[in-house]
Amino acid sequence: MGAGLVGSLLSLYLARRGHEVTVYERRADPRKAGPVEGRSINLALSDRGWRALEGVGVGDEIRRVAIPMYRRVMHDAHGNLSFQPYGQDQQAIYSVSRAGLNRTLLDLAEANPRIQLRFDQQCLGVDLRERTLALRDAGTGEQHTQPFRRLFGTDGAYSAVRAALQRTDRFNYSQSYLEYGYKELNIEAGPGGEWRLEKNALHIWPRGQYMMIALPNLDGSFNCTLFFPYEGLHSFAALQTPAQVQAFFEEVFPDVVPLMPELQQEFFQNPVGSLVTVRCFPWAFDDDVVLLGDASHAIVPFYGQGMNAGFEDCTVLNELLEQHGPDWAVIFDQFQRQRKPNADAMAELAVYNFEEMRDRVADPRFLLQKKIESK
Ligand code: FAD
Repeated sequence: MGAGLVGSLLSLYLARRGHEVTVYERRADPRKAGPVEGRSINLALSDRGWRALEGVGVGDEIRRVAIPMYRRVMHDAHGNLSFQPYGQDQQAIYSVSRAGLNRTLLDLAEANPRIQLRFDQQCLGVDLRERTLALRDAGTGEQHTQPFRRLFGTDGAYSAVRAALQRTDRFNYSQSYLEYGYKELNIEAGPGGEWRLEKNALHIWPRGQYMMIALPNLDGSFNCTLFFPYEGLHSFAALQTPAQVQAFFEEVFPDVVPLMPELQQEFFQNPVGSLVTVRCFPWAFDDDVVLLGDASHAIVPFYGQGMNAGFEDCTVLNELLEQHGPDWAVIFDQFQRQRKPNADAMAELAVYNFEEMRDRVADPRFLLQKKIESK
């Protein structure tokens, strides 16, 4: 259930092992979406993600459209820059387009005769005893019941599959929101399509209680994300007019304002997204249902590991299938036991790293320490 990043990759892994897979997805086919719906927002892809993509032979194809980011570039409030490498030699994390990555995985899934893709199919509920799905067709509005033999819930942070598990006995569940939201903004490419900030870097404007980051796109633009409190002196609530937005950005992010000619429009057009951590357990129900990706472990984005961890779920599940053959009860049980501590660790690191990115990276003592370490 769910043809997002994790669901589309998982379908490839399962099909490669000889399974017949049907993927249901609430939204329309993103490959047919118009320019607005398909607007590219990029993600940082790192080692776990690469390993999972290489497992289905798609690493090289993605590498061709990925931009290595070798270091963080910090922008202070006067426009001065400082730098921190992500690793040694050519080590990097990579900026990739979410929509592009999803499209590539869906193309591969569509080309595989064992995989059927069903778009515009929203899961309304799961009957665990009868092993049926309630699906609603977005086009006709009609509902129907679909039997399943084995169900993989890859339907994201607000998973309908997980909602069914939540009604079973001794199922633990928690969700917690940060008091921060995020807004996507855009830095335009230069007139010749050139990058107007250092291309091979992740840019951060750390400002103590909040921050903005930017990742490069292939067309010379950057996607910026402002992580900002909902309420308070400096907050989304406090910026109500175009003049307030302009004045705030000129004061706090002065070097970026000339690169954002659409700032005021984008600020009021683009929605504020919320930042949630979801924890639950167990992830499996008998040998019938299992959750992967954000459905089982949605985390805040500051460690850049949500998708990467979801991709790693696919790698680990595939390894367990290799070891245990058709013994799904063992496979699901070992999968959740192996992955849960890792997912919990990632959730904690992600929250911790918000403080590091918005505050500590700008601390001169931290910069000095980093310099000593890199020497
Ligand atoms: P999703 O991508 O949410 O996909 C779920 C799919 O299921 C969707 O297609 C949805 O339409 C479908 N669906 C949902 N409900 C239903 C239903 N009822 N019926 C049918 N279909 C349904 N991760 C990184 O690794 N690196 C990053 O740099 C990074 N940056 C991020 C920045 C931001 C601002 C945010 C919010 C997240 C970021 N993440 C990042 C996390 C990453 O986006 C998620 O971890 C990843 O998308 C999870 O993939 P998924 O397939 O599990 O879920």
